[in-house]
Amino acid sequence: MLRVAVVGSGPAGIYAAESLVAHGPAQVDVYDRVPCPYGLVRYGVAPDHEKIRSISASLAKVFDSPDVRFLGNVEVGTDITLEELGARYDAVLVSSGSSAGRGLGIPGDGLPGSFTATELVSWYCGHPDTRIDAFTDTARHVVVVGMGNVAVDVARILLRPADELARTDVPPHVLDVLRASPIESVSLVGRRGPAEARWTTKELKELGSLTGVDVVVEPAELAVDAAGEQRLAAEPGARRNLDVVREWAQRPRAGASRTLRVRFLQRPVRVLGTERVAGVELERCVLDGHGGATGTGETERVEAGMVVASVGYRGVAVPGLPFDERSGTIPHERGRVVDAAGEPVPGVYVAGWIKRGPSGVIGTNKHDAHETVATLLEDAAAGRLPQPGGTGDALELLASRGVHVVTWSGWRAIEQAELALGESLGRGRTKIVGRDDLVAAALRAAGA
Ligand SMILES: Cc1cc2nc3c(=O)[nH]c(=O)nc-3n(C[C@H](O)[C@H](O)[C@H](O)COP(=O)(O)OP(=O)(O)OC[C@H]3O[C@@H](n4cnc5c(N)ncnc54)[C@H](O)[C@@H]3O)c2cc1C
Repeated sequence: MLRVAVVGSGPAGIYAAESLVAHGPAQVDVYDRVPCPYGLVRYGVAPDHEKIRSISASLAKVFDSPDVRFLGNVEVGTDITLEELGARYDAVLVSSGSSAGRGLGIPGDGLPGSFTATELVSWYCGHPDTRIDAFTDTARHVVVVGMGNVAVDVARILLRPADELARTDVPPHVLDVLRASPIESVSLVGRRGPAEARWTTKELKELGSLTGVDVVVEPAELAVDAAGEQRLAAEPGARRNLDVVREWAQRPRAGASRTLRVRFLQRPVRVLGTERVAGVELERCVLDGHGGATGTGETERVEAGMVVASVGYRGVAVPGLPFDERSGTIPHERGRVVDAAGEPVPGVYVAGWIKRGPSGVIGTNKHDAHETVATLLEDAAAGRLPQPGGTGDALELLASRGVHVVTWSGWRAIEQAELALGESLGRGRTKIVGRDDLVAAALRAAGA
C-alpha cells in the first residue's frame, strides 16, 4: 500500500489523488492550508462563472474513496514540515499552485489603491487570508493592466450590476461594497495590440454585453503588424477576438452609466498620486513587427482611483525544496523534483501550476497530474522511493501542535453552514470567509 501526501487540494492535487487510487493500492492524504478544498476553483474562478465552478462537484467525488482523505487548515511548511511528511509517507506530491501576484514594478506601484489582480480576486472570492476591508472604498475610475482572462474577470466583476452578483455565492461584505460602488469606468490597458491579447472569445463577448455598460475602443489602437497577422492566421481564436474588438470600436455609445475602455498599445510607466492612487501615466507604444511593442515617449495621464495589475501569477517557494525564482516554479523532470544539479530529490513530486507555471485551463492539470503520478509509480516500482522512517499518523503530530484539521465531513459541514447563511440573507449559498468561522463550522459538525 503506497502512502502519499498531496500538498494542495486544487485541481492538480485532486486529479493526482484520483489517479493514485485508480492505479492503487494507495492511501492519499490531501492537505490544504485553507479549510476548504478546490484551490482556485473556489478562490480564483469568478463567482458568476457558476458552470466552471461546478467542476468542484466532480472533484468532490474523488473524496468518496475511503483511500483519499482531505486534511484542510494545515499549512505545509508551517504546521508541519516537508521533512515530517516525508518521514510519514512513501512520497510527497506538491501541488501548491501559484498564489502570488506580480506587481507592475513601476514608480508609484504600492500606493494605497494599487493592487494585484491576485489580491482583488482573493477578496471577491472570499479567500480567508484576505482582509475583508481591503476594498471598502472603490474608486470612480479604475485601470486594469493586462490583456488576459483574469483581467477580463476583474473588469467584469467591477462593472457588472451588483444585483446580478447577488445570485452568486459572493460573500456579503463583497456584495455590500459592489452595491455601493461609485465606479463609472474601467480601462483595460495592454502594451501590445489586439492580435497579441491572451483572452478567450467567450469571456470577451460576455464582457462586451454587460447590462448598463458602454464599450469604447479607439480604432487607431487596433493595429496589427506582420507577427500579429501570422498569429491571426495560425490561431482562429485570436482572429475571433480581433473581430469582437473591431465590432466594439464601431459601436455607438448608448449613454450607459458605466463605461469599459479597452486601450491597446499603452504601457503604464508611473502610478500617479501622493497619498493614494490618483491616476496612471501611459506611454503610447508601437508594434515592433516581432510580437513585441516599444514605447514612443508620448505619454498621457488617465485619472484613476484604483489600479489593478493583472500581469501574471507566480508560485511561492516551498521550504526545503529547490525553486526557480525566474519562472516561480519547482524544477522537475516529468514531475520528479530535481535539484540544481538535475539530481532527483527522492520521494518528492510536483503537479499543476507550481510545476509548469500559471497556464492552461482546469482540465490541463489532469493530464499534468497523470504524468507526475506515472513518474511516481515508476519510481515506486523501481524501488527508488526512500523508506519513510517516522512512525505515527501525521494527524497525531498536528493534534499535538493544536492544529484544527478540517476533514471531509468538516468541509461538508461548512457547505451546510454556507447554505444556512445564504438562507438567512434571502440568497442562495453564500461564502463564509473568516478562517475561524470556517473552522468553527467544521468543528461544530464534529461535535468538538
Ligand atoms: C483568477 C483566476 C481565474 C481562473 N478562471 C478559470 C476559468 O474560468 N476556467 C479555467 O479552466 N481555469 C481558470 N483558472 C485556472 C485554474 O484555476 C488553474 O488552472 C488551476 O486552479 C491550477 O490548479 P493547481 O492545483 O495547480 O493550483 P491551485 O488551484 O492554486 O491549488 C493550489 C492549492 O494549494 C494550496 N496550498 C498552497 N500552498 C500550500 C501549503 N504550503 N500547504 C498546504 N496547501 C497549500 C492552496 O491553498 C490551494 O488550495 C483561473 C485562474 C485564476 C488565477
